[in-house]
Order: sequence, then structure tokens, then C-alpha cells
Amino acid sequence: MIEQTSSPPHNTTNVDPAELDKFSQLASRWWDPQSEFRPLHEINPLRLNFINGIAGLAGKQVLDVGCGGGILTEAMASCGASVTGIDLATKPLEVAKLHLLESGLTVDYQQIAVEAMAEAHPAQFDVITCMEMLEHVPDPDSVVRACATLLKPGGHAFFATLNRNPKSYLYAIIGAEYILKLLPRGTHDYKRFIKPAELAHTCRHAGLELKQIIGMSYNPLTKIYTLSPDTDVNYLLHTQKLK
Ligand code: SAH
Repeated sequence: MIEQTSSPPHNTTNVDPAELDKFSQLASRWWDPQSEFRPLHEINPLRLNFINGIAGLAGKQVLDVGCGGGILTEAMASCGASVTGIDLATKPLEVAKLHLLESGLTVDYQQIAVEAMAEAHPAQFDVITCMEMLEHVPDPDSVVRACATLLKPGGHAFFATLNRNPKSYLYAIIGAEYILKLLPRGTHDYKRFIKPAELAHTCRHAGLELKQIIGMSYNPLTKIYTLSPDTDVNYLLHTQKLK
């Protein structure tokens, strides 16, 4: 039986506790760039530049949803943004808070569901990021709607997740978990992968206008990630809330 290391707040239904446990059990290695979190460390400069280039983070109110140990969260704070990081897993948040002592940065970390955050703080944020999280949640549409509520009119939301097709199964599960062993087996569940068209549809219904979809590709020979037009596996979607 899996030890239950994270108990989400009781009023939260849009969560899979087994998913939180997976991340809690690995949490101590979050900031080790050679660990299971190596892919997140390697893609971080790419996604940070993409987000900062579009949204201009300095001086902005930013919310990072499903922030984990804070790899992107801290990077956005170091660009001069005022950043709040939320997650429902206990240990990754503990690690994120401890890491602030090392980095000297300031981030407001909170264990709260994005839906509860949206009830408490509608239209408060200039920029929302939700990276590599939607594919771990039972109802990703509810997360997207909450992000839309949390944004100020004209604010930017960025979502990154995994596409669903035979190639993404081959690369993200067989390749990454079984052959290259970049990620622990069982990290991802193919059924929860989301096609860009599905995510774009959900965003439009939530009042978020689709601006751009860009791929994040991994070359196993050079071991380098790049932003690319190939959205078949990992992709990043930029949307803006209607004014
Ligand atoms: N966004 C971070 C971490 C991605 S790992 C990054 O890209 O660097 C996925 C994170 O989603 C984990 O920290 C996990 O605890 C969190 N998560 C999973 N389900 C969640 C939920 N229902 N609500 C909030 N966070 C969740």
C-alpha cells in the first residue's frame, strides 16, 4: 500500500491523492538537476523566456498553479514578479519554502486548490502559469476555468501539458519512462493527456483567447530541449483573457 504523504484540504474534490503522493515521495530531490526532475530543470529557461518575452514579468502579479518545488516559480520571482505559488501536495511545498532560504527570493507559497483561490481572489493576477499539471488532475477544465476567473481582463495564462496521440505515447511514456528513464515509471497516465484542440476549446469557453501554441521537443541524441513548431508531444499554450 502506498503511504499517504499528502492530504489535500477537505473541501477539494478536483484532485487525485495518488498523484500528489507520487510528487511528495520524490520531493526531496526536486532541486537536484540530475534527479527525476531533470526534465523540468532543462526546460525551465525555455519556458521562462517564452513567458517573460510575452508577458514581461517584472512588476507583475503572477500565480503559478501546481508549482511543485518551485523551479519556474522562483525563476519568475527572479525576473522581478510578485509571485504566488499554489499546489496541493504537502512535501513539494515544504521543499519550495526551504529553497527560498537558499535563493534569497520571495514567493508566497500556499496549499490551496485553484478553485478555492478563484473564489477568494477573482481578477487579481496579471499572469498565470500552469505547467505540467493538467495531466495529473481529474477535471482539467475546472482548473482552466478557475485560472480564467483569477486573471485580470487582458491578463495572460500559459498552460503546458502533453498531447494525446500514438507518438506522444511512444515518446512520453515508452521513451521517457521505459527506455531513456528520464522519468519514473507511472509518472504519466496516457488517458489524461490532452490534445491542443481540446485545451483550446476549454480555454475559449472560459473566456481565454488562444494566442499561440508552441512545442517543446526533446532530442534524445543531443539531449537538448528546444521550443519548436512540433506540438506532437510536449506543448505550451498561450492565452489572453478577453477585456
Ligand atoms: N509546475 C511545476 C511542477 C510540475 S509537477 C513545474 O512545471 O515545474 C506537477 C505538480 O502538480 C506537482 O507538484 C503536483 O503536486 C501538482 N498537482 C497535481 N494535482 C494537483 C491538483 N489537483 N492541484 C494542485 N496541484 C496539483
